Amino acid sequence: MSAHSRVLDVLGGRDPRRRLRLVQWLIASAVYVGAATLLITGVGQGWMNTSALMLWLGFVLAVLVVGYAALRSGWTERFRDPSVTVWQLSMGVIAVNWGYLICGPMRTSALFPIMVIFAFGAFTLRWREIAWVTVLAVSSLVAAVAARALYPQWVPAQGEVAPLRVDINNVLMLIVVLPALAVIAARLSNLRQKLRDQREALSRALAEVERLAVSDELTGIANRRSMRSLLEHHVALSARHVMPFCVAILDIDHFKTVNDELGHAAGDEVLKAFARRASETLRSSDVLGRWGGEEFVLVMPCDLEAARRVLERTHRAVFSSCYPSRPITFSAGVAQHHPEESADHLLSRADLALYRAKRSGRNRYVEAG
Ligand code: GH3
Ligand code: MG
Ligand code: MG
Repeated sequence: MSAHSRVLDVLGGRDPRRRLRLVQWLIASAVYVGAATLLITGVGQGWMNTSALMLWLGFVLAVLVVGYAALRSGWTERFRDPSVTVWQLSMGVIAVNWGYLICGPMRTSALFPIMVIFAFGAFTLRWREIAWVTVLAVSSLVAAVAARALYPQWVPAQGEVAPLRVDINNVLMLIVVLPALAVIAARLSNLRQKLRDQREALSRALAEVERLAVSDELTGIANRRSMRSLLEHHVALSARHVMPFCVAILDIDHFKTVNDELGHAAGDEVLKAFARRASETLRSSDVLGRWGGEEFVLVMPCDLEAARRVLERTHRAVFSSCYPSRPITFSAGVAQHHPEESADHLLSRADLALYRAKRSGRNRYVEAG
């Protein structure tokens, strides 16, 4: 381990969340140190009282040391917010307004760090806590303004300052607080990016779940559930418009022997090829779904005459191309929907017709009565 990372371990510990809290504390400390440096230059300018500044520096130093010790030791981890943000920000507010009280004609720029305080608060505080920090900020500033008015002797050096000096001080204070704001803005943008990524991952997962809910895992065509709702949809439509539609149940002949002779994996391949080849020959308005096992359901928005042609085309498509050395045939029962007939009744008529197709020798379709 390098000396550099050993020093980091000693200063920040190994827990990444604790380290992050200490980094935030470091940013706050940098702002304190920058502001303190500017205030110290004020002593030389004659607009700052040394003992007032020493008191302020003592307070800031105490806050920094206590804060570091509490965060580094892990003592604050007993709280809901282990960063003790409310405490940190309250101390910041007091330091800012105390600075306002003692820093004579440069007091405007002493207020800048308030921006950093509220930006930090935007991350973690609840509205009650933000309200508390706001009330503390306003009331302590009012107290500072009142103290200056009532006890001007507290701020003995209040000489006039050249306007350019005021401007320069404001620019310097901005330079002190802006990097902290930039770090906070970068963290917020990072969080937003994470949220965007999560949202995208979620919608991809949702699309996948939706796809899985309506499609058959093995063949990829519509599953039983989605064929049922398609049928219900057609039944509902036909109640409003007189639109013929037919249902066929297709069952592969002697499929058990395919499994027995070629193996289950080859059986799966036959099922996939059957679904693919049959789907390819269908018109876009016809829908093929897997009903279960080696049974398929075909919904065709047409009359029996057209349905017959669809079944003959399907027979030709699957016969020689599902498995290289073995012709695949199916039997089917086909039924045209009667006015006001339920989906279940229609299916049972198609099923009975399929049974008759099997009984009469297979490799054929039978029309339901
Ligand atoms: P029939 O001509 O009377 O329809 O005879 P069959 O052998 O096709 O019908 P049966 O109901 O006796 O057998 C169907 C077989 O389909 C039994 C079962 O193991 C097989 N099967 C069901 N689902 C799958 C599957 O997902 N993959 C494979 N490989 N086989 C399956
Ligand atoms: Mg079967
Ligand atoms: Mg079968």
